[in-house]
Amino acid sequence: MKHCFELPEGMIYLDGNSLGPLPKGVAETVAAMIIEQWGANLIKGWNVDGWMAQPSRVGDMIGRLIGAPQGSVMTGDTLSLKVYQALSAALQMRSDRKVVLSDSGNFPTDLYMAEGLIRHLNHGHELRVVAPEEVADAIDDSVAAVLITQVDYRTGRVHDMDAITAKAHGAGAVMIWDLAHSAGAIPVDIDGSNAEFAVGCTYKYLNGGPGAPAFIYVRSDIVDDIDPALSGWLGHEAPFAFDRDYRPGAGVERMRIGTPPVIQLAALEQAMKLWDQVDMDDLRAASIRLSELFIAEVEKTCPDLTLASPRDPAQRGSQVSFHFENGYAAMQALIARGVIGDFRAPDIMRFGFTPLYLDEGDVTGAAAILAEIMRDRLWDTPQYLARQRVT
Ligand SMILES: *Cc1c(COP(=O)(O)O)cnc(C)c1O
Repeated sequence: MKHCFELPEGMIYLDGNSLGPLPKGVAETVAAMIIEQWGANLIKGWNVDGWMAQPSRVGDMIGRLIGAPQGSVMTGDTLSLKVYQALSAALQMRSDRKVVLSDSGNFPTDLYMAEGLIRHLNHGHELRVVAPEEVADAIDDSVAAVLITQVDYRTGRVHDMDAITAKAHGAGAVMIWDLAHSAGAIPVDIDGSNAEFAVGCTYKYLNGGPGAPAFIYVRSDIVDDIDPALSGWLGHEAPFAFDRDYRPGAGVERMRIGTPPVIQLAALEQAMKLWDQVDMDDLRAASIRLSELFIAEVEKTCPDLTLASPRDPAQRGSQVSFHFENGYAAMQALIARGVIGDFRAPDIMRFGFTPLYLDEGDVTGAAAILAEIMRDRLWDTPQYLARQRVT
């Protein structure tokens, strides 16, 4: 499906795990939306162009990829905010418990948001952070909520969703999964897992574009009991009644906060149409083939790089990471030669394998360029050693 994307000539893009590329048709759709809807219809667009229904309509498109029933996923805001919404609801559901359990492989914003919420609640909650492999054993009946990211953003290690959810429920805890590196990368059956909440972003594997809105899933049998902490007017049962009293909207509508990002949603909605043609099991098999090929090539030619991802592909998401002490400079050298991956502190070179637009030729091509950089120490120049703001 490479022909479905606008990829610059000569670039090998191994960073779809951080920002997906531009799908063909998105630029035209967004331009037409701006001119024909915003430009011509102005405020009528909320009704005639369906802007108000768009956050749930796009939520349903995401739902199909993560095994969520229609009407259980809402889009909007950023993932950091969706983490806050899910966790605040979970803590209210278990108000007699004080522990939020997470792991040290989690993305910092998830932990920061949890800490901020705990500080402001000021009810003696504690964020307990354990090593990823200790999560299951750390779940006990003091835990109110387990908040973890299924696929580790640095190493690609995958948590066992069903087993950890079952463990959490066995101890009476609420389960929140962050699917930032799962949605569009690996098959997910969130409904089958029985977790209460899932959250994720859409600018990574879902190709919604920089700043594309996040999503939140809430299990249907609990959603009507949730009292939203972020009780914005568009999550109200009747926003245009402008009532003085807040009453949460029906179902997952209450996870809305304020005005949706209509232009970003137009881009995301168009990007999501690509997924109609994708079978997630086929995609996963292709991703494993590409990742295995890359690991084999790099291990053959780059002895200074050591694998940071699990060796077993079943334990890995759709990315492969290597440790290298000069990884930042080596990644800069790669980028200068048209191979785009990224660097995560302290020493991780990260490569995303997204079969929608990558093939084996891209993988062997990228590995060959990396081999040359390592063999000839092409990274060892001041230009590549100096760090930029975004790595
Ligand atoms: C990418 C990512 C985020 C980013 O959060 P934003 O609010 O969208 O910037 C959060 N959590 C995880 C696990 C991520 O991988």
